Amino acid sequence: KHNTKEDIIRMVEEDDVEFIRLQFTDMFGNLKNIAITTSQLERALNNKCMFDGSSIEGFVRIEESDMFLYPDLDSYVTFPWRPQQGKVARLICDVYTAEGKPFEGDPRYILKKVVKEAEEMGYTFDVGPEMEFFLFHMGENDTPTTDTHERAGYFDLGPLDYGENARRDMVLTLEDMGISVEASHHELSPAQHEIDIKYNNVLTTADNIMTFKMVVRTIAKRHGLHCTFMPKPKYGVDGSGMHINMSLQKNGKNIFDDAEGKLGLSKEAYHFIAGIMKHIKSMTAVTNPLVNSYKRLVPNFEAPVYIAWSACNRSPLIRIPTGRESAARIELRCPDPSANPYLVLALCLAAGLDGIKNQLTPPPSIDKNIFELTEEERVNLGISRLPASLNEAIKEMENSDFMKQVLGTHISEKYVKAKKAEWDEYRNQVTQWELNQYLYRI
Ligand code: GLU
Ligand code: MG
Ligand code: MG
Repeated sequence: KHNTKEDIIRMVEEDDVEFIRLQFTDMFGNLKNIAITTSQLERALNNKCMFDGSSIEGFVRIEESDMFLYPDLDSYVTFPWRPQQGKVARLICDVYTAEGKPFEGDPRYILKKVVKEAEEMGYTFDVGPEMEFFLFHMGENDTPTTDTHERAGYFDLGPLDYGENARRDMVLTLEDMGISVEASHHELSPAQHEIDIKYNNVLTTADNIMTFKMVVRTIAKRHGLHCTFMPKPKYGVDGSGMHINMSLQKNGKNIFDDAEGKLGLSKEAYHFIAGIMKHIKSMTAVTNPLVNSYKRLVPNFEAPVYIAWSACNRSPLIRIPTGRESAARIELRCPDPSANPYLVLALCLAAGLDGIKNQLTPPPSIDKNIFELTEEERVNLGISRLPASLNEAIKEMENSDFMKQVLGTHISEKYVKAKKAEWDEYRNQVTQWELNQYLYRI
């Protein structure tokens, strides 16, 4: 059942809501919002709330700057950490132009377009993300640090786990906001945590990831900790990934499951894997969008480097977790939590559908540790690698028709331009590592 405008007005009254935040996400995955008071609610529900798009990075030029927010009425929820009287609620919005057309630069619209294509083929796309992050100490004057006294590791528990109370609070708050949590645990690195969001249809999941990051940051702060989704905040330990578990449903049944198929997976599942493997190099600038993302994608830290799949090994890009029947799924391991979830999931779905439409077959699985193979062995097995830097990734994206077609011209052009500037700025830096290496010796 979907909410009507009247439902929203009633809930706002019943919940004693004072402020409503109209939220949307920019092209780089930043959550934005405009707060209105209840006196403006009707206007907002009639899609009349406007903002200046030229002040949002990657949106539009000054001359065409009026943008309208169309609230998704099913996204209504109140923020449990705000006061209980005069509460704050949010509505996630789609962005429209002054002409009443969906805005091409709205990542939620890009995802909706691919979802529609999947629906026309009879498919619903279900996604469950695994969110990893660090909780560091807050320094003087509230400046974040990468410090931690913690020495806990994988699955450790309190009192070693300093973040345990914060994590518990995060999980309860998420559940309170209607986001089911599958599991949560301490991750491998000191101060690193993971919370797995229960799978849901892809649009809800993308919305949930945005809400998740806001909630987790807010609750961490309340516990005096700094939460970061930076992919590789510390040298020498594991970085943070955002593994994506994916399956397709047709007529209410998970069609990746096939008891007769190899490893219990259907031929559609293998086509889907092949589609992702075909396009992953061009997608990497979006799944791993920062200069820093590529410092995570290096050997021996449980993050993928090579384009391969496996059922029993964690080094490849795509893994087949053990769940079968309704839990049959494939896990993509390269995305990191700094990525824009709408764009990442739009691309995963579009690449998988391409695999199905063209009946692509994946190469054989690689069931040994790829990092232990020699270069020659890898070449003989036909294993290539992911882009090794943001620069390489942008080049792959620029040369890809698939990326232009899925993201549209507006986003692909603005994205490449911004990422090139980011790379150039980075390339010009003189880093501490260089000073340590060369200043005294050379
Ligand atoms: N933290 C690892 C990564 O960078 C993943 C660890 C795991 O398998 O959960 O992707
Ligand atoms: Mg993990
Ligand atoms: Mg995983």
